[in-house]
Amino acid sequence: MSIESRIVIIGAGHAGGALAAQLREYGHRGPLCVIGDEAHLPYQRPPLSKAVLKGAATIDSLSLKNAGYYQEHDIEVRTGQTVAAIDRDTRHVTLAGGEALPYDYLVLATGARPRQLAVPGAGLDNILALRGIEDAQRLKEALQPGRRLAIVGGGYIGLEVAASARALGLEVTVIEREARLLARVASAPLAEFFERLHQQQGVQIIRNACLSHFEGDTCVTAVHLEDGQRIDCDVALVGVGALPRDELARAAGLHCENGVVVDGDARTSDPAIFAIGDMSWRPLPVYGERMFRLESVPNATEQARQVACAIVGKPRPAAEVPWFWSDQYEVKLQIAGIPFDADRQVVRGDPAQGKFAVYHLRGERVVAVEAASSPLDFIAGKQFILSQAAVSLEKLADMSIKAKEAALVVA
Ligand code: FAD
Repeated sequence: MSIESRIVIIGAGHAGGALAAQLREYGHRGPLCVIGDEAHLPYQRPPLSKAVLKGAATIDSLSLKNAGYYQEHDIEVRTGQTVAAIDRDTRHVTLAGGEALPYDYLVLATGARPRQLAVPGAGLDNILALRGIEDAQRLKEALQPGRRLAIVGGGYIGLEVAASARALGLEVTVIEREARLLARVASAPLAEFFERLHQQQGVQIIRNACLSHFEGDTCVTAVHLEDGQRIDCDVALVGVGALPRDELARAAGLHCENGVVVDGDARTSDPAIFAIGDMSWRPLPVYGERMFRLESVPNATEQARQVACAIVGKPRPAAEVPWFWSDQYEVKLQIAGIPFDADRQVVRGDPAQGKFAVYHLRGERVVAVEAASSPLDFIAGKQFILSQAAVSLEKLADMSIKAKEAALVVA
């Protein structure tokens, strides 16, 4: 570790951009180069499915920092350039154009790419995915009032786009393979709440739906399901998850599982290389030895902080509670923790009122909370997860008692 070290960051996204700023903030003053294959300075992706589609945010407003900031802090950001290979023996990366750049520490922050569908017709025009600014611009252009949008995948991106498209006056159908929406990422009560909300807003939802093929000459005109249903559309969005962009790391022989395996400092199996953000497979000390791949802004910034600390020699940041948010219509969803080993749930508040929380517990300990337009539950739940305090399930469910007062006092 050294504040003079030469650092190369591959990926000028949320994690890479946050790390560059964090390093300078922590006193790193060696050469710092961020290489990104997109044409943009590091930017925020969350508004792409929300404010940008609705026309409430401009592309310029998405940048994490402006060009002047990088100049002032002597951070070289190379946009529009792809790293093609890593040579761990000589500690160089090679750009697609052949240029080689040396490093003392290398940070992989290459994110994830949308999973593609391998069904007939998937290559037709107007079948879109959403990851970057250009995708959002294409989608926005296609989302004209009165058009019919078919969304394949009832996850967060699909549902956020559904909400934005309804606001723009499109007819929207969400096609979900599983028995419920948000099957991998939310509890049944929360999924039911969002299903009702979208239906009230005029979205048609088809669950247990197996995609057969897309129909169209050049442009998509319909989605066909295996049970024979046909959904006519002018535009289709495929939002069926994302895969870690870990191919550089694999080619360089780094240990990879579901993403690049890292430790609590975000260090890979090579001590000179770190990996952060959507492409890393990481531990979360609040959940013991288990490993996770998280796709969220707080995860990207937290791992950026871990690397900055490790490189400049600061103590590792305190264990964090992972969290995530999603905005759909007027509902602000905030989720803290991951309910992988929960054995009971407590619903606090009334989903019909649009403001409630689902607490997930293992015994008397809260392991996760899903809070729909209920920020106090989000805060209380996060605190319970961190403190591992035992709570009273009855008090938690009782709206006349503040959530934070549900902790059991140990005599
Ligand atoms: P990215 O931000 O994707 O950055 C990776 C960068 O590396 C990309 O620019 C990529 O092109 C580049 N790259 C890859 N390979 C190379 C290479 N070989 N050479 C050079 N550059 C390369 N999270 C939330 O918490 N809340 C939300 O509401 C939310 N909404 C979202 C909405 C959308 C539409 C999307 C797409 C994501 C959303 N997310 C949300 C997730 C969040 O944006 C990601 O978790 C976050 O961007 C991850 O940061 P990252 O740096 O790991 O990846």
